[in-house]
Amino acid sequence: MAKQGNIRISSENMMPIIKKWLYSDKDIFLREIVANGVDAITKFKKLVGMGEAQEDGAEYCIKIGIDKDAKTLTVEDNGLGMTEEEVEKYITQIAFSGAADFLSKYEKAGGEGIIGHFGLGFYSAYMVSDDIEIFTKSYKADAKGVRWESDGENTYTIEECDKQDRGTKIVMHIADEEKEFLDEGRIRSLIEKYCAFMPYNIYLNYTGKDDKALNDTQPLYLKNPKDCTDEEYKEFYRKTFHDFHDPLFWIHLNMDYPFRLKGILYFPKVKSKVELERGKVKLYCNQVFIADNIKEVIPEYLLLLNGVIDCPDIPLNVSRSFLQNDRQVQKISKHITKKVADKLTGLFKTDREKFCSCWNDISVFIKLGCIKDEDFYSKVKDIIVYKDLNGEYKTLQEFVGKAEEGKTEETAEGKAEEKAEEKKEEPKEAATIYYVSDEVGQAQYISMFKNAGLNAIVCDTFIDPHFVSYLEYKETGKYKFLRIDADVDAALKAGESNADDDKALVEAFKAALKNTTIAVKAEKFKSDAIPAVINVSEFSRRFGEMNAFYGLAGADADRDMTIVINTANPAVQAFTGLDADKQKFVANQIYYMAMLSYKKLSPEEMQDFTSNNMELLNKFIG
Ligand code: ADP
Ligand code: MG
Repeated sequence: MAKQGNIRISSENMMPIIKKWLYSDKDIFLREIVANGVDAITKFKKLVGMGEAQEDGAEYCIKIGIDKDAKTLTVEDNGLGMTEEEVEKYITQIAFSGAADFLSKYEKAGGEGIIGHFGLGFYSAYMVSDDIEIFTKSYKADAKGVRWESDGENTYTIEECDKQDRGTKIVMHIADEEKEFLDEGRIRSLIEKYCAFMPYNIYLNYTGKDDKALNDTQPLYLKNPKDCTDEEYKEFYRKTFHDFHDPLFWIHLNMDYPFRLKGILYFPKVKSKVELERGKVKLYCNQVFIADNIKEVIPEYLLLLNGVIDCPDIPLNVSRSFLQNDRQVQKISKHITKKVADKLTGLFKTDREKFCSCWNDISVFIKLGCIKDEDFYSKVKDIIVYKDLNGEYKTLQEFVGKAEEGKTEETAEGKAEEKAEEKKEEPKEAATIYYVSDEVGQAQYISMFKNAGLNAIVCDTFIDPHFVSYLEYKETGKYKFLRIDADVDAALKAGESNADDDKALVEAFKAALKNTTIAVKAEKFKSDAIPAVINVSEFSRRFGEMNAFYGLAGADADRDMTIVINTANPAVQAFTGLDADKQKFVANQIYYMAMLSYKKLSPEEMQDFTSNNMELLNKFIG
């Protein structure tokens, strides 16, 4: 005779709340049900180990079945099973009282990850089912099969049944509006996401022959790093992240004390330079997937990496706001950061060539990490390299040292060593470091710098403007960064010319120019080739860029611009002798030529420049 019972707490209003509240994260029901099966098998194996239960030789596994006609999704395990009393206790009473607990707390708790912790794991299946049956048989001698059933509202049925095998079978009658969960592809992808590394084989629609488990019960990250080959790491990466590019390198985390943490973090090849791709760090707890990219555990800047982290010690079933303040979680996060920094510095020291060849892919995330996390900065600051104008990668210290050395060629090895000693001393004055933010756009300045025997570093990622400011702030007084077009004197100036002549030239040039806001300056360059260059104050350019970044007014980066005319250039020299009309023409032509190698012209400027050019062409033909 089937027994009927009332569910202990008044739950009429509970299911709607669970259903609605957890709506966005419905998918997790399958994880909860499968994880319960895994728990049940683990418990059974423990009992066997203690001599309290007998093995029957069957493979420990979870079988998931879909029956579209019956509209059921079934999860079956051969774990320890439950007796009738246990079903009453764990399913009907504990779970529901756990739910009551949940109900009274949910307002404060914040919601996320609450399943399981409050004993709601099993009941999460009601998010997609309108009725659930449990068929179970305990491992205990003389145990009888038990069938439990409830529509999740407020009553349940429990009765004996003739289940033959030990274990538990959960039959979920999928609700009409959730029929996507009867789709094999959908279920398969859920298993791939949540159950990929669960410790017992999981089969979908088991047939009994040639079945292939969907999960990897021995994921590589659990192995001792000493026993893993490069090929295995790459293979694991491909399988887990579906990325066909090999990772650049990886870090295998493996520790037991003071907390347990296993995992592999991969540094992926960044596919596009401009748009930073978001990586994926998957968090597991005892091989059960919890979530992607939990920033409380993995510092946000490391989320550019791909990886798996398994951390049984994280209090996962509590809300994220709690995680944030959890000391254990903070320690774990710090440890991961340290490991990443260690790996990077290790690579820099042992295989600098490889380090530099990966630099373009990893630099953005390292710089981001520095800005976000001072600890990380202090760990990696000496291995940050910059490409110079010769394509060599140097640290700032090396770059500054080299720039100084350039004047006195190093001769003997002994001398070089001495130099290295000297370099350790802090320079008294901030070292000026020229940088290029656009190798193509600033090509003219680059060639001017090269011709003058000067060097510069390339800082052309979106993070660099911020990073440069950050460095100046962190290393106060040590470095001064100037974009290559912010100080043309350094590269071009060849001593003083006649101040009075210059003044007259400047006045005449100013009067002839259409652009009335730009400042004009005359200078004698080393070469007579270029008539003029544009010089922009570093400070106001940065100010403009910052405003642009925050979408503020005053974003115009052309403020504080100077055109420096070269008194060594024949066209400039001839300028003073021309009539007013010709001066106008020549001044603007020189202006546009200089502007062109500084930035893209606006449509209006382009039009004006073109008509200037046409006039020139006509003169030449005529
Ligand atoms: P939790 O797993 O956090 O304890 P659940 O609601 O998922 O909460 O499950 C409640 C209890 O029901 C479990 O602790 C377990 O005792 C029992 N249970 C659930 N599923 C199974 C199963 N497949 N086999 C044996 N016992 C189970
Ligand atoms: Mg559970």
